[in-house]
Amino acid sequence: MGLIIYLDGKYVPEEEAVVSVFDHGLLYGDGAFEGIRAYNNHVFKLQDHLERLYESARTICLQIPISIEEMQEAVLETLRRNNLRDAYIRLVVTRGKGDLGLDPQNCPRPTVFCIASSIQLYPDELYENGLEMVTVATRRNLPEACNPRVKSLNYLNSIYAKMEAKLAGAGEALMLNQEGYVVEASGDNIFLVKNGKLITPPVYLGLLEGITRNTVMEVARAMGMVVEEKLFNRHDVYNADECFLTGSAAELIPCVRVDGRPIGTGKPGEVFWSLLKGFRELTKEDGPVIFE
Ligand code: PMP
Repeated sequence: MGLIIYLDGKYVPEEEAVVSVFDHGLLYGDGAFEGIRAYNNHVFKLQDHLERLYESARTICLQIPISIEEMQEAVLETLRRNNLRDAYIRLVVTRGKGDLGLDPQNCPRPTVFCIASSIQLYPDELYENGLEMVTVATRRNLPEACNPRVKSLNYLNSIYAKMEAKLAGAGEALMLNQEGYVVEASGDNIFLVKNGKLITPPVYLGLLEGITRNTVMEVARAMGMVVEEKLFNRHDVYNADECFLTGSAAELIPCVRVDGRPIGTGKPGEVFWSLLKGFRELTKEDGPVIFE
């Protein structure tokens, strides 16, 4: 059975959920989106995702035609119509239909859609044994050019990185900025564990402020760990005790090899497993309820 999709105020079968070839989301990657998970009948951190979506939209001068409350209801109702209590949700707002020029002023109405489905970013085996990353030549977008804090539909920078990593035989890409500081992976944030401290790059470096990232920092602090947002480079990664990635789609995944060097023992570490446990606990009841 096909999915029911929310599209511009209506719930339609997936065959009918189509957008125009003149939509600037397609023509120019002009728009913003969110990837969200529902666990155990709750939409995890939904408020944070909605706020980030509306902030991305504000920065790119995209006027979302419905309120944040209506958007929340659209997400919940999409899940209900598909009878889903656990899901991966893709919420998208594009600039809408325009002409063949890039001027967004010629796009009178944004397109809004929500897909509730599932996703598996990496094979199960990698969640147990850890994945391998390589540093890629593609640098993360400069914040002054295309700010990674905006979760825009323009993902070519990340796609380049992912392709490079896969072509090199690794599962994920380590992305640096112009100065060689570690920024993030192609679609996940990065964490190191060193001498019991949790370290992740600061948002102003030019990365997506991941909601899973913020949640993991919260979990770590609650466990009494020191959490530092600071700059680091590849030397720090190679010499970390542990390394892992976070994202709504990826959840938490250990990284055990970077550029051919084993990280720590070369196996997922103790801190990783405790943070994962803490994260799993939170997912049980955070966020609005789908079915009352
Ligand atoms: N960085 C990038 C580039 C991403 O696309 C994502 C989301 N897939 C993340 C980090 C993780 O963000 P979140 O935890 O909010 O999903």
